[in-house]
Amino acid sequence: MTGPSSGGPDAETKMQFLYALRSRGVTDKRVLNAMETIDRGRFITGIFADRAYEDMPLPIPCGQTISQPSVVGLMTQALQITARDKVLEVGTGSGYQAAILARLARRVYTVDRHARLVRDANAVFQALGLVNITAMTADGSHGLAEQAPFDRILVTAAAEDPPGPLLAQLKIGGIMVVPVGQSDAVQTLIRVRRGENGFDYDELRPVRFVPLLEGLGKDGS
Ligand code: SAH
Repeated sequence: MTGPSSGGPDAETKMQFLYALRSRGVTDKRVLNAMETIDRGRFITGIFADRAYEDMPLPIPCGQTISQPSVVGLMTQALQITARDKVLEVGTGSGYQAAILARLARRVYTVDRHARLVRDANAVFQALGLVNITAMTADGSHGLAEQAPFDRILVTAAAEDPPGPLLAQLKIGGIMVVPVGQSDAVQTLIRVRRGENGFDYDELRPVRFVPLLEGLGKDGS
């Protein structure tokens, strides 16, 4: 059985979920382990709950989406997180990605422009005992100045360019992963590394994300 109230996927469903991740390039053992531990079904409610273990994005409240599991895995892998890292995620959404990050990093800050999503995600973090995540309502295109700088930054909404304030809040030696491109066109997942002398960019793969919008959201929209 699947779904949020069933205590997680059965063994067969879990095996297929992990197989799909591996076959799409998620090979990092620590990432696979984190994704095996965090039950995606806890982050999806309503009519789509029984599809939680399929490798597809699904609708969540406020007109947003929970990302495809293999994309979550590939982005997490690209961040090369270590156990000492302080991570910022922009775009809490369901909270699923933040929960995976929290299994790998020391501390995770995640922000979303929709207060309702932050409230729901916080309830799940609490239920799962994930005490190293702080979720807040904020416009993440400005980053989170009071907690900066960050070792790693993950943006899970598409910007036209990597936002300047986020680049500024990345530590030297830090890594940021961000989907870049027009909201209605194909976007590219970019990895930015900050070195002593500036930023290096590499293109990872085509992706499709909801847009990074300015300002706070009206709940329900
Ligand atoms: N990481 C999420 C999926 C994110 S969907 C998960 O695991 O479920 C993208 C999210 O980015 C949406 O919830 C949207 O509200 C949020 N978002 C868009 N623009 C934003 C901004 N400027 N600041 C913060 N959040 C933003």
